[in-house]
Formats: sequence, C-alpha cells, structure tokens
Amino acid sequence: MSETKIMEHGCKYAHASVGKIASFEGKQFMKDAVGLTSCEMSFGTLPTGAAVPFFHSHMADEEVYVILSGEGRFQVDDEVFAIAEGSVVRVSTGCDRNLKCTSAAPMVYICIQAKENSLENCTMTDAVVTERENRL
Ligand code: ZN
Repeated sequence: MSETKIMEHGCKYAHASVGKIASFEGKQFMKDAVGLTSCEMSFGTLPTGAAVPFFHSHMADEEVYVILSGEGRFQVDDEVFAIAEGSVVRVSTGCDRNLKCTSAAPMVYICIQAKENSLENCTMTDAVVTERENRL
C-alpha cells in the first residue's frame, strides 16, 4: 500500500506525493492531503485481472478517470469499452461505473470527482498572465 507524503505547504499551496507511479499500490485520496476545495482526486491501482470490487454511482458529481498505465475495460451501466494508458473517461451522474485491469502490468489511474455542470470559466477565461521574477 502506497502512502501519501506531505512534502511542503504554504498559505497558497500544498504539495503532496504518492511517490513513483510505477510502484504505486492501493488507493490514496488527495482532498485532505492538499486541502482541495473544488474536487476530490484519488490515485488507484488494480492488479492484473482485478476490477473495483463494487459498481457505484454519484448523485451530484461527474468523474474523470485518467489511465496512467496498464490496459483494461471500462463499464458504464451496460456499455463496455477498452481503456489503456492515456485514456481519459468522463462519467456522468446517475449511472453505474467500474473498471478492470486486463494487462500483465497493474493499471494505475487517477479519478477526479467534481460537481457536474459547475465549471464556469477555465484556462484563459479564468487565468490572468502576471509578472513575476522567475526563480526556477
Ligand atoms: Zn466515484
């Protein structure tokens, strides 16, 4: 089981790490680790042949699954499709979902959960280019 380490934080940021993705195991939620206020995010892994042990549905939140490694299948209600490293799957509220790893290597994925239809502005409709000394 991997652990989330709090790396550093300030009044405007928090940095946590689950370590190397290639050796990630288990499930780790990030909301409390970094103080998320707009979404929940988790890292998950499935060993070869394994699926999440239950289907579930959300009442208010959509979910986005980002597959970081491995291959498998994703099911939404009764529809099934293939997923692999690089896949991004959005799932609406009010439907059942599950995923299964079918590759020889474990599947590692991120799941982001946020209130459906809550996004009002993003990227350049929300961002402002600012001036700052670059200390990187
Ligand atoms: Zn969920």
